Amino acid sequence: MRLAPGASIGIVGGGQLGRMLSIAAARLGYKSHVYAPDATPPAAEVAAGFTRGDYGDAEALRRFGAEVDVATYEFENIPVGALAALAEAAPLHPPLRALEVAQDRLIEKQFVRDQGGAPTPFLAVTSRGDLDQALAEIGAPAILKTRRLGYDGKGQARIERAGDAAAAWKALKGAPAILEAMVEFDAEFSILLCRGADGEIVTWDAPRNIHANGILDRSIAPAGEALDAAIRAGETLARRIAGALDHVGMLAIEFFGVSDQALFNELAPRVHNSGHWTIEGAVTSQFENHVRAICGLPLGDTARTAPRVEMKNLIGADVDQWLDLMREPDAFLHLYGKKNARPGRKMGHVTRLIGAARERA
Ligand code: AMP
Repeated sequence: MRLAPGASIGIVGGGQLGRMLSIAAARLGYKSHVYAPDATPPAAEVAAGFTRGDYGDAEALRRFGAEVDVATYEFENIPVGALAALAEAAPLHPPLRALEVAQDRLIEKQFVRDQGGAPTPFLAVTSRGDLDQALAEIGAPAILKTRRLGYDGKGQARIERAGDAAAAWKALKGAPAILEAMVEFDAEFSILLCRGADGEIVTWDAPRNIHANGILDRSIAPAGEALDAAIRAGETLARRIAGALDHVGMLAIEFFGVSDQALFNELAPRVHNSGHWTIEGAVTSQFENHVRAICGLPLGDTARTAPRVEMKNLIGADVDQWLDLMREPDAFLHLYGKKNARPGRKMGHVTRLIGAARERA
């Protein structure tokens, strides 16, 4: 099905990802309609319509679906059952199955292993006894992560030595979890892939990602030659996963690069923070290609627009530098319209095109 400009796109989730999706959709003449529980979500400010509702309210989501021509999501922690009600009222991309896999770290890693991928070594943990057993097998250092509802380093406890197990178990409050080996990686990178309704796949240069305190700090494209082989392996796996899910839209997969291997960390069936650089750093951004994919349109060129592109997140008080960043040549500032610059909160980002030709007549 091809949806022509003028059609309405329902976006479940109201954060910065929805905001940038709405902007990309509007540029192509589509109308975005945002669904979120908050009173003033960042995405609603730039969308044509806004419905306030809970993510678990199946009937409200069904009504929302009846008002739009196609629907997508920018947030992962939506109950699958409630989103299924929406999917009965409107075409939903990416598919529910992709969300189901991404929501649960155990299911996700098992799925990836079934696809021939290599996740970081892990074991399921549902009791204090399991944790001791898993720790004996995997060894310290390790990370205990909740299976569900974790993001930006939340729902995680590091275990430096066996003696830390009790504190880690307490920190996660007994939630079903996995214990993961701590990987000594050379670098982190992500594969940014978009699959069209007809199965066409495009990818961008895989960025190298640098995290601070479990939160993405910077993404740099290209990632550097040392990661070439690992990136090739990651991309092969990403394409296989996208096909297996019958995915339509953006799929971002985070990897740990260890020598020429790509160890799977996690996947996101949506636009992704490590793809923000594509707004100015690529001919077609991840946001535009996501809109194109879910509307059944041909995907756009993903070539880089500068020799090197760097995206820096503005987290918490970083956003106070906005005026200086505005004065910088070749720097593109994005602010998300959030009021409180709480520590750890993503307030905006800046993308720098490095080595790009500059001309003025
Ligand atoms: P996650 O939310 O699981 O992607 O974790 C956030 C960040 O914490 C990752 O991008 C890594 O920088 C770090 N991290 C998470 N899991 C591991 C691991 N098993 N080994 C090493 N670093 C990790």
